[in-house]
Amino acid sequence: MSSVFSNEAFKDHELVAFRHDRETGLNAIIAIHDRTLGPAAGGCRMHPYASEADALRDALRLSQGMTRKSALAGLPFGGGKAVIIGDPRRDKTRRLLESMGDFVESLGGRYLTGEDSGIGLDDVRVMATRTAHVGGLQPGAEHGGDPSPTTAYGVYLAMRAAVGHRFGSDAMGGLRVAIQGLGQVGLHLAGLLAADGARVYGTDVRANLIARAVTRFGITPVVDPAEILAKPAEVFAPCALGAVLDRQSIAGLKAAIVAGAANNQLATPGDGDRLHQRGILYCPDFLINAGGIIDIHHQRLGSSKARMRAHVQRIPDTLLKVIRRSEAAQRSPAEVADEEADDIVHCAWRGRAPVDVPQLRTA
Ligand code: NAD
Repeated sequence: MSSVFSNEAFKDHELVAFRHDRETGLNAIIAIHDRTLGPAAGGCRMHPYASEADALRDALRLSQGMTRKSALAGLPFGGGKAVIIGDPRRDKTRRLLESMGDFVESLGGRYLTGEDSGIGLDDVRVMATRTAHVGGLQPGAEHGGDPSPTTAYGVYLAMRAAVGHRFGSDAMGGLRVAIQGLGQVGLHLAGLLAADGARVYGTDVRANLIARAVTRFGITPVVDPAEILAKPAEVFAPCALGAVLDRQSIAGLKAAIVAGAANNQLATPGDGDRLHQRGILYCPDFLINAGGIIDIHHQRLGSSKARMRAHVQRIPDTLLKVIRRSEAAQRSPAEVADEEADDIVHCAWRGRAPVDVPQLRTA
């Protein structure tokens, strides 16, 4: 395992836990970044990482992003994330998911888990047989279950706000949007955009998911996933994995706006500046993809769908504030959003100590 404390992605993380279960083959990491605002919430990702160092880096970066996401969304959560090293299509077994549930439980409520790439609602249900510390499964909640549609809704609203800011009208009719990744969020986003009259181009590394989006929403398929980044379009929407925006890809981007659901879209912090210098309006990922965690928060409160959606509808306002501040200060929106979120946590931290989660429910 590569270094932890001296890792470039280590940003004062509170706890990094490793779990190996020889019986099920589970190899997993849970990273808790900060609990100043509440228990560390963030989904569990399963991915065939090329190396353990990549998995650790992902957990460290994603958990910090979760701290910032909840802070800007006004949620009483800190930031955490779990990663399972493995191929979800080959290595995911019921026993492995139960073992992951035990791992989450062992942290005593400091970390709340949920869905992420490679881990769906049914998988979280299996984990919930071993731990109460899961989100998105509140029984009887009006909008209980999969938070992905709400994430897509928040991204869609933010995209429209960015379009309005850049082009003077937020009408999506006829605008070209190129979606990378047609999974849980990308598919729903394609549906919202298609319903709004946008011309949606979409790709995925799984051909069957492209075909599904074509059948359901009449999107225009981009068969070679490598072509989507440079697709001529007004908006590029990264909805696959992270680090897609780097020196090379930014140089080839044709879009005027980047607005998507994927976490950690920027390969390095300098890539936010690169986008800014190219005049591409970047909508910070953790700001605009907060719909899912907002949904989970309201499920836990048992609030109505209308109340949850009203909370999500605040995402574009926060985005426009960040964009205006970035323009006034001639700094990238990415940098401004990081700073705003860190300020919220810092101010709260000066006021009080981290909190542990109360027992919410039994699985
Ligand atoms: P998902 O796994 O269902 O979908 C991701 C899709 O991207 C998959 O279909 C995968 O095949 C595809 N993909 C992977 N590499 C690709 C590539 N190079 N080119 C094209 N397609 C590629 O995951 P999801 O739940 O839809 O989440 C998508 C992203 O949004 C992730 O980064 C996730 O962390 C983030 N996110 C999701 C939620 C949520 O509510 N699900 C909330 C916030 C952020």
